[in-house]
Amino acid sequence: MSKEKYQPETLAVRAGAVHSQFNENSEALFLTSSFTFDSAAQAAARFVGNEPGNIYSRFTNPTVTMFEERLAAMEGAEQCVATASGMSAILACVMGLMKAGDHIVTSQSIFGATINLFNNIIKKFGVETTYVSATDVSRWQAAVRPNTRLFFLETPSNPLTEISDIAAIAAVARGCGALLVVDNCFCTPILQRPLDLGADIVIQSATKYIDGQGRVLGGAVLGNRKLMEPVFGFLRTAGPTLSAFNAWVMLKGLETLKIRMDAHSANSLELARWLEAQPNVARVYYPGLPSHPQHKLAMRQQKTGGGIVSFEVKGGREAAWRVIDSARLISITANLGDTKTTLTHPASTTHGRITPEARAAAGITEGLLRIAVGLEAVVDIQADLARGLV
Ligand SMILES: *Cc1c(COP(=O)(O)O)cnc(C)c1O
Repeated sequence: MSKEKYQPETLAVRAGAVHSQFNENSEALFLTSSFTFDSAAQAAARFVGNEPGNIYSRFTNPTVTMFEERLAAMEGAEQCVATASGMSAILACVMGLMKAGDHIVTSQSIFGATINLFNNIIKKFGVETTYVSATDVSRWQAAVRPNTRLFFLETPSNPLTEISDIAAIAAVARGCGALLVVDNCFCTPILQRPLDLGADIVIQSATKYIDGQGRVLGGAVLGNRKLMEPVFGFLRTAGPTLSAFNAWVMLKGLETLKIRMDAHSANSLELARWLEAQPNVARVYYPGLPSHPQHKLAMRQQKTGGGIVSFEVKGGREAAWRVIDSARLISITANLGDTKTTLTHPASTTHGRITPEARAAAGITEGLLRIAVGLEAVVDIQADLARGLV
């Protein structure tokens, strides 16, 4: 593709495509673990010289490279490194950019496995983590130590859809010489581009909206070339790289990402408004609703409210489980970003292992339900929920 400035939906279907000698119009799947050389001299040039070209698919693979170039164009990043999953993207970011004695500041409202990674794995290597409010910028400043190297946030948060002010937190990070990493899984580059707002690095769990049909796992780390070099170095040595097949599936996912995000968002807004009008619903959490405490910030930072709606039913766990057990259409699963609507009870599943006190402090009550709104007709989703909202 030429270097002209294209719109996101154009980049989604065109950026990063390379063509083989067969002139295929669609991106090819290169299922090969290694690549051959024309001569001993060329092999040497690839391995120890800096001659560009593929060597082995743990390092680079043409299908994976196409996915990386397309996603980089969409996020506005100089470089993207693809990973086997969202979690291996976070691991690669930390292993590539941090060392023993460094410190992370992050929000309390991040993905559970990320908290586990920071508390139980990264900590063993001498990197400590401090948790602060997702929404109170002054807490981020107050948590900074001389050895703070990384700020890490996720916005909107799961399941309460709290919004962190990326530009404000980026300014604090810059002021203390730390890097700001944003997990952009819930918005994707279609709804939010953290690098434009001052973040240094974006993390994607491509398993969610980028694949978009719940089929494969994948992830990505995006940023400038200098920052991505050690991240890529970790990946090519340690090995949690993206498989060519999954990259090929994700390339297809990127092509429809814009229209899917628009449809997820429109369905979510309609469903959130309907939920707000239900007598047995005590509260609805959705950034696209004017009743959301950070609605204005959300609408400045993201294009829409996104595809995740949480709500609290009256009657605690019994009432919440009744909604789940009455569903005939909606899938009872904790995954999200799928064409199929999914429903989960955070207090007994994704947040079931933390103490009741920590859960209460995080606002995750027994009556809370989270819906990742899919692409079915909203009337059908409503009818499925209405059966249990009695
Ligand atoms: C799912 C998820 C991850 C982890 O991604 P995997 O692909 O499952 O490893 C990270 N962050 C967020 C916000 C997620 O929802």
